Amino acid sequence: MRVRKHSTALVGALAVAGALVLAGCVDSAAPGGGDPSEPAAEFTPVPYEDGTTMADLAAAGEITIGTKFAQPLFGLEGPDGIPVGFDVEIGKIIAKHLGIDEANISWTNTVSQNREPFIQSGEVDLVIATYTINDARKEVISFAGPYYEAGQDILVAAGNPEGIDGPEWFQENPDATVCTVSGSTSLTNIQEYTSNVLEAADYADCLEPIRTGQAVAVTTDNVILAGLADQNPEFEVVNNPFTAEPYGIGLAKDDTEFRMWINDVLEASYADGSWAAAWESTAGAVLDLPDPPAVDRY
Ligand code: GLU
Repeated sequence: MRVRKHSTALVGALAVAGALVLAGCVDSAAPGGGDPSEPAAEFTPVPYEDGTTMADLAAAGEITIGTKFAQPLFGLEGPDGIPVGFDVEIGKIIAKHLGIDEANISWTNTVSQNREPFIQSGEVDLVIATYTINDARKEVISFAGPYYEAGQDILVAAGNPEGIDGPEWFQENPDATVCTVSGSTSLTNIQEYTSNVLEAADYADCLEPIRTGQAVAVTTDNVILAGLADQNPEFEVVNNPFTAEPYGIGLAKDDTEFRMWINDVLEASYADGSWAAAWESTAGAVLDLPDPPAVDRY
């Protein structure tokens, strides 16, 4: 994680580069032009084949997306009840490609623990919620993406009075309690170092236990911690990430057409500048613009 400097010019450059890439794609796909052995790179939003999730959602004109409501920078409930953040913007990009107006997106508050069940029950069409792609989750749902890669880190009281420098510190100090969230990879990852873990429903719920001395730290993805520290300056991030957390878009297991279509949308958003603009208008307030990761078409 890098602390933001100034990257507006870079965004502009990326947007221009994206436009050029798309223009190039269209040209090379024109009749008589380009290399026919090259895969068509341009993005075609419609028409969708009957029976696909894309066709169903486009016909309905609405979509339900699960996201976090308590994570600044990625998904935080706004005064009007609609969440704001990078994950929310990614959802809007997908809806737009389906021809769905952002006013017709139903946002459902998901915590880490209920993401897979909400997808499995059909309560949501998608989950975009700082959601790490991993094999255990792929047993029950599928993932498009990744569209961002975070890393697990540690948040401590400003000044780091305990001198916590990484997860090994908890192995060496088994009496110290660390707080994290049920149903997260953050929990399973930190359990490799300590069993003294306080579990909350949301990462924001971990701050009070530090204030009261019940816990000495919160552990989860660096970008979630950066958002919490930005809002609560009495905390700081250790800044020593110790895992890779590729963020995916959760959808119904084995809906491969929808998964591949979302991967196309993500790649188009990298090329046309909308991914970078989504970052800049949200997480970009605190964090530098990263390079988008390659999608994994498993
Ligand atoms: N990215 C991790 C996960 O999906 C931690 C963040 C979260 O709980 O949303 O479990």
